[in-house]
Amino acid sequence: MTKVFVIFWFDCEDFVTPESDDALKRLAEILKLNNVRGVFKLVGEKIRTLEKRKRQDVLNALKGHDIGFHTNFHSVHPTVAEYLKDMDFESGALEFLRREGQGVEDIRRVLGVSPSCYGQPGGAWAPQVYLALRKLNIPVYLDSSDFIGLNGNPFWYCGILNVLNLTGSRGDVIGLNFELGTQGFIEEAERAFDEACNRIVKNESWGIISIYNHPCTLVTKEFWDAVNFSKGVNTPLDKLKTPELKPKSWVEAGYSDFDKFIKYVKSKSFVEVVTASDLHRIFKDNALSKLFSKDEIFSLASSLRSISFREISNTYVSASEIFWLITASLADYKTYGRLPDKVMNAYLLGPYKLFNSEALRTVKLEDFLNASYNTKAFMERNGRIPDFVEAGNTKVSPVDFLSSGARLYTKLYNHESPKYVELVEGIFEPYCYVSSEGVKNSWRWVIFPENFEAWNLVELAKLQTWTIKPAKPSF
Ligand SMILES: [Zn+2]
Repeated sequence: MTKVFVIFWFDCEDFVTPESDDALKRLAEILKLNNVRGVFKLVGEKIRTLEKRKRQDVLNALKGHDIGFHTNFHSVHPTVAEYLKDMDFESGALEFLRREGQGVEDIRRVLGVSPSCYGQPGGAWAPQVYLALRKLNIPVYLDSSDFIGLNGNPFWYCGILNVLNLTGSRGDVIGLNFELGTQGFIEEAERAFDEACNRIVKNESWGIISIYNHPCTLVTKEFWDAVNFSKGVNTPLDKLKTPELKPKSWVEAGYSDFDKFIKYVKSKSFVEVVTASDLHRIFKDNALSKLFSKDEIFSLASSLRSISFREISNTYVSASEIFWLITASLADYKTYGRLPDKVMNAYLLGPYKLFNSEALRTVKLEDFLNASYNTKAFMERNGRIPDFVEAGNTKVSPVDFLSSGARLYTKLYNHESPKYVELVEGIFEPYCYVSSEGVKNSWRWVIFPENFEAWNLVELAKLQTWTIKPAKPSF
C-alpha cells in the first residue's frame, strides 16, 4: 500500500515582533478551516509573551493542534549547542533540563498539554538533548538537520523517533517561509512536493514529507533573531530591535499561498496528514516489548562481522539491542550452563565515553562469562552500555566485547564447548550516520559565534549511534 504521510510544522519563536502573533493565529486558523492539524513548536518565551500581550485569541487558535517544544529562549546566547559544547552526556542533559525546563512547564501550564516533539534552534543540534527528552517524556524529534541521518529514513535514536533528515524514496523536507506570497513560489513548492511524492509512489511504499514554516516569516522580511543575536552577540532584552515588516499585500498573498498549498496536498488520494503524536503511534517500535528466540539471537550473532542495526523477523534492532541480547544470553549461560530459549529485549543507550581496548588476547571462558554477567547487571542498573568491559584483567571496548561475544554465542549455539575466548577487534558501522560535512553545515548558523565548532558533540553523538535504527510504520 502506498502512503505519503505529510506533516506540517511551525517553529513559533519570534517573541520580538508583535505582528508575528497574528501570523501564528492566522496559520493555525487556515489549517483548521482545511480540517488539518499542524504541529506548533513553541519557544517558552514566545508563550509567555503571548500571555503578557493578552493574546488569548492566539492561544485559542492553537487548541486542537499538536504542540511541540522549541527551547526556552531559542537564539539568546548561550544557545543549546553553545552551552553543551564541552559537557559530557549526562551532565549535559541535566544542564538542558535546568535551562530549558521552564519552557516545557509554561507550555503545560498555559495550554494544558505536554509537548509531543522537540526541534533545535537553527544549527544547535546536540546529542545530550535526547537524554533530556526522555526525562521530559517528549517522544519525537521533529526538525531538519544535517548533523545526523539514516539514509533519508525516519529513525530511532536514543529511543526518540527522529523525523529529521528525510530524502530519496523516504520523503523530503520542504520549507515554506519568507517566499510565501511571491510570484511563482507556491507553484515551485508544489512541484517539489510532487517530485517527493513520485519518488515514494514509484516504490509502492511509504514516506514522510515534512513541511515547515516559521510563522514570523509571513510578516517580516528578515529573521527576528538575525537582527538581535547574530554572531554570538546578545542584544539586551530591553533593547531588542524589530525586524523589517512586509507590506500588507505581501502578507495577505502569503496566507492565500499557504491555503492553496494545503488544499493541493490534501487533494492527493495517497496523502495522510499527520502530527508528531500520530507518527509516534504509527511508527511504534515493535522490538521494544519483543521476546527474542535463541534462533533469532543466533542469526543476529552470526551476522556480526561488522556491528550495526539489523532487521530480523520484520523488526529492526539497534546495535545496542543486539549487545543486550547477546550479553544477557551469555550471562544466563554462566548461571545455568546453557543459552536461554528466549530473552526479553532491552533498549539501552550507548556508552558515555569512547574507549579503546587495552589489548586483545585470549581469556578464559569463565572470565568472559563473568564479564558478561557483570555487564548485564551494569546495564540493568544504568540503562546503558558501559564505557568498557573488564574481561580477565583486560579492559576492552564494547565494540570488541560484542564482536568476541557474538563469536562465542555461535559456538555455544552449535554445542561447542570452548575453554578460551579469543578477543577480536570489532568493526562498528553506525558512526557513519553522524556526518562530518553535515555538522559543519550546522555550525554555519548565523547566530553562532564566528568559527563555532563543537567536536565533543560529534563524539558523543557517535557513541549514541549504538541506538540508531530505521523506523517503519505498522499499518
Ligand atoms: Zn527556530
